[in-house]
Amino acid sequence: MTDSIGRLSIVGFGLIGASLAASLKRAGFSGEIVAVTRSDASAQQALEQGLVDHAVADIASGINEADIVLLAVPMLAMRTVMKDIAPVLSPRTVLTDAGSVKQSFIEDARAVFGSLRNIVPGHPIAGRELSGMAAADDKLYQGRRVLLTPTEETDAAAIARVSALWTLAGASVECLQAAHHDRVLAATSHLPHVLAFTMVDTLATQQEVEEIFRYAAGGFRDFTRIASSDPVMWRDICLTNREAVLASMDAFGEHLQLLRTAIDTSDGAAIESILQRARDARDAYSAE
Ligand code: NAP
Repeated sequence: MTDSIGRLSIVGFGLIGASLAASLKRAGFSGEIVAVTRSDASAQQALEQGLVDHAVADIASGINEADIVLLAVPMLAMRTVMKDIAPVLSPRTVLTDAGSVKQSFIEDARAVFGSLRNIVPGHPIAGRELSGMAAADDKLYQGRRVLLTPTEETDAAAIARVSALWTLAGASVECLQAAHHDRVLAATSHLPHVLAFTMVDTLATQQEVEEIFRYAAGGFRDFTRIASSDPVMWRDICLTNREAVLASMDAFGEHLQLLRTAIDTSDGAAIESILQRARDARDAYSAE
């Protein structure tokens, strides 16, 4: 199926875009891969890393003749990039993305292109707290899921082409509704990131900050690793998935308050019951 993809153009050649290029090259992808960057220096770097066949900072020539164009830029940059490519995008080209929020991508695409026939929204459930093409990993998608959220208008052949690409990169592909995707990801990914950022921020502003970080043990490191993620990317995710992120934060706030009340009233049974319930849920999930 990927044999019919003669050219893939990746707009936004950071961790996610460059890792896809690296994974496809490793898997023997037969087509050409083009990196579309913002600067000549980044284009040069992409070529030097040997992950692409061509690299250009000019978006029009970068997507020329592409069978698939994949956008891997921060969420709030999606619409601007779409406006840049709209005048030159061929009607036969499939447009997809790797962005973390799907309803806003669909809204952007609808506003810019009108028709969603050749547009396949996608999100690899794989990533790292590092950014940029230097962090590219040719095994990033190995055994991971990629969620596609096509609309009713999306052409089945376009979905099949994008699926084939991610499958070659080592991922397993599933389709679901965009709104469902955004709610689930708000709970499983966006809320944990918000909590990690907030926890580190809270501790960093306390007086004993040096001791807190000096005596931090493994649990602290595990829990806060994701607070090293890119602030621009996460700002954009919070803003574009605003309602679902707020709902998850509110649910978390209610549960935090329950535990706080139990501690405040020295209600050992309630504390133990909350912790036991959480441990059971975590163990059941880990055993899956
Ligand atoms: P990244 O490493 O920071 O790369 C982002 C790329 O987008 C860079 O090449 C950057 O160019 C380019 N870019 C930034 N702002 C732009 C703008 N305004 N216009 C055009 N290009 C712009 O980020 P990433 O981790 O690859 O994330 C890319 C997308 O994947 C995001 O939508 C993110 O939500 C999604 N995603 C990320 C992860 C993860 O764990 N990182 C996982 C799944 C999905 P420069 O190099 O010139 O700055």
